[in-house]
Amino acid sequence: PPGVALKTDIVVIGGGQAGLSAAYHLKQAGLEPRKEFVILDAASAPGGAWQFRWPSLTLSTVNRIHDLPGQPFSDMASGETHVQARVAVPRYFAAYEHTFDLRVLRPVRVTLVSRRGDRFRVEIDRGDFFARGLINATGTWDAPYIPVYPGAERFQGQHLHTRDYRTAQAFAGQHVVIVGAGISALQLLGEISMVTTTTWVTRQPPVFREGPFDDQAGRAAVALVEDRVRAGLPPQSVVSVTGLPVTPAVGEMRARGVLRRHPMFTEITGDGVRWADGSEVRADVILWCTGFRSSLDHLAPLMLRGPDAEGGIVMTGRLATQVASDPQIHLVGYGPSASTIGANRAGRAAASELLASLALR
Ligand code: FAD
Repeated sequence: PPGVALKTDIVVIGGGQAGLSAAYHLKQAGLEPRKEFVILDAASAPGGAWQFRWPSLTLSTVNRIHDLPGQPFSDMASGETHVQARVAVPRYFAAYEHTFDLRVLRPVRVTLVSRRGDRFRVEIDRGDFFARGLINATGTWDAPYIPVYPGAERFQGQHLHTRDYRTAQAFAGQHVVIVGAGISALQLLGEISMVTTTTWVTRQPPVFREGPFDDQAGRAAVALVEDRVRAGLPPQSVVSVTGLPVTPAVGEMRARGVLRRHPMFTEITGDGVRWADGSEVRADVILWCTGFRSSLDHLAPLMLRGPDAEGGIVMTGRLATQVASDPQIHLVGYGPSASTIGANRAGRAAASELLASLALR
C-alpha cells in the first residue's frame, strides 16, 4: 500500500501471538508502524494460526490462551467457554491490532530473507523490504510433520494430518489409525472414536501427568526446551516435557476403552498398516497427529542451522530469542516460547534486545 516504507528498521514476519506481542513492544518504545517497523502476515485475516483450528476446539478444550500485553482476552471472552477458539481468538486479535493501531500488512507471505550488507532483504511475492533487524514469528502451523514409514506411497486410503481435521463425522463408517501421543492426538481420538472404529499407535507409551500442572512445573518444562535451543539442538515437542494432562475427557476415554495404545507399526500397506510381528490392521485413513516443526524455510539463505544432521539453531539472549550467529535476528514463538504465554514474553525480550542492539531507542 502507498505510504509503507520499503526501507525500514525492523520487519516482523508473522502476526500471531508472538508477532503481535513483539509489535506492541516496538510501538511502546516509540517506533511508528509501517514506517520504522512493518508487520507482514501471510494470513488474509487477523488471528494467526488460531483461525485455522478445527471447530470443536473451544475455549474450554484449549489448554489456555494467555492475554496479549496491554489488553486482556477475558475482557472479550468471559464466560464464553463454548465458543470456538477459531472464532474467539481471531476476534480478539483483530480488536487488539485496532486498539494499538499496529497496521499489519496482509496477506503478505515472505518467501525468502537474505543478507545485503548491513540490511536484510525480505522478499515477498510482489517486491522486497529492506530492514536492519528481523523478528521472525511464523509459528509452526505451516510446517506439519509426518514421519516417513516404508510403503506410505502405496496406501490407497487417505493420509491426513492434524491440521486437516475438521469434524469426526467425516470419518463415519471408516477405520481410522491415529498416530501420536500428544494433546491433539488424544483429542481427535476421543472425538473420532465416538463415531467410528479407531486404532491408536504411538512410538513411546504415552506419559500421563496425574498431578496439576502448576507454574513451577511450567517453568521447569520451559527450562528444558531453553537448554536445548541454547545448545543448538532442535526444540522438542511440548508433551515430551510436560506429559499429558488427565482431563475429564481422558477419564471418559479410559472408561470407554479407547485408550488402548499399540506400538508403532513398521510398514504401511496398500490397505492398512503392518507391525514387525506380521499382524495387520486395515485402514481407510491414517491420521498423523505427529506435530509440527518451526516454519522457517524462508530463512534458509541466512544459513542459521548448524551443520549437523539435527539442524538446530544456536540461540542466545535473555529468553533465548536471539540467533547467536546473527544477533539482529530474533525468533519468537520458537522453542521455549512456543506457547501463548511464552510468545508474549519472547516478544517483549526480542523487541527490547533488538532495539538496543540497533541503537534505536
Ligand atoms: P501462529 O499463531 O502460527 O502465527 C504465525 C503467523 O505467521 C500466522 O498468521 C502465519 O500466517 C504467519 N506466517 C507464517 N509464515 C509466514 C511467512 N513466510 N510470511 C508471512 N507470514 C507468515 N498454546 C497455548 O498457550 N495454549 C493453548 O491452548 C494452545 N493450543 C494449541 C492447539 C493446537 C492445535 C496447536 C497446534 C497449538 C496450540 N498452542 C497452544 C500453541 C500455540 O498455538 C502457539 O504457541 C501460539 O499460539 C503460536 O503463536 P505464534 O505467533 O508463534 O504462531
